[in-house]
Amino acid sequence: MYTCRYNFWTEEMFPNFSISLDKLYTRSLNEYIDGAVDECDKTSEDMRNDLLYFNEFFRDFEFYYVSLIKLGIVNKKNFNNVLEALSSIKVIRIFDPKDKNVEAVTYNGEISINSKSKKKIHGMEDFAINQMIFSHELGHIICGSWEEDAWDFACKLYKFKDNKKILKDLNLNNRKYLLDGLFLLEEAVVQDCAEEVTYRLLGRKREKVKPIVDNDVLPGIRIHSNFNFYEEFQEVVVKFAKCLDFLNCKGDDSFDLVLKKLAIKVFCRDFINQLDECIGVDSDKIEDFTIMLACLGKIKEASYAKMGFGKEISTKEIESCLEIFNLIVDSNICVNLERNKQKVNA
Ligand SMILES: [Zn+2]
Repeated sequence: MYTCRYNFWTEEMFPNFSISLDKLYTRSLNEYIDGAVDECDKTSEDMRNDLLYFNEFFRDFEFYYVSLIKLGIVNKKNFNNVLEALSSIKVIRIFDPKDKNVEAVTYNGEISINSKSKKKIHGMEDFAINQMIFSHELGHIICGSWEEDAWDFACKLYKFKDNKKILKDLNLNNRKYLLDGLFLLEEAVVQDCAEEVTYRLLGRKREKVKPIVDNDVLPGIRIHSNFNFYEEFQEVVVKFAKCLDFLNCKGDDSFDLVLKKLAIKVFCRDFINQLDECIGVDSDKIEDFTIMLACLGKIKEASYAKMGFGKEISTKEIESCLEIFNLIVDSNICVNLERNKQKVNA
């Protein structure tokens, strides 16, 4: 049985949370024990270490949700979605792949965690690295509720008026880019929350956002980030988010604040509907949104190619993609600022 560490999870305030967590713990543990009996090759020491790791995961799990609530990212509006996502996890599994570099994987409602992972981050203790890795996977589970809507939305954008031709002319003609663009938003938000929670655990402030020029995916291109992973995603997502009216991010919002506002939306079951409503029916706005999203998709493709998944994209191609992206972002942020000024003046 898993007993929550925080008294915070009362039935009145957060009905079913501790029950769901305990159920997941029990079904995951049962599956582990069944598997270990079948395998026979695990020593009792292996099993003891696995179980310690397993318990550590659940402690981090609980801390993740407590932190998101305290940070205001999980709130009344999206708590039910978060709880449903938690109940939808089939099992937490410990795996021990030969590739020691894979820390954790979320697939088909199952989270597999690698008890032999040796990931290091300069200046960060091992327990905090685990918290970051686990938190990242838990974030993906929450977003899983809108992933099916994402494909329909991507198709809708692709078929809208001249969008297909426009994307072709910009060398972005791939419907998958639009879907990947949405998943890049998810990736950045999930990582931002994971970092936020981890630094909370450490009792330290996150590092300041700093300029970077030696990023693997965007070599020689000056970007800004304070992420420990996926630094190439942070600035583009912040810029994109500033163009979304429903987030109401003024020109001077910090990266943290913009991503927090986006996270609150991304953790809602109806995130895709909200995005759809946000861009409305204005053709120019839909066109801009589609191009920006496709650019994000291409950057995601470039990032995954660097990790060995898919074909590499040349630096020149990425540069031209970023140039288009920045042009559209700049014009949209100006429009938003103008609108906000009018609101203030009204
Ligand atoms: Zn991820």
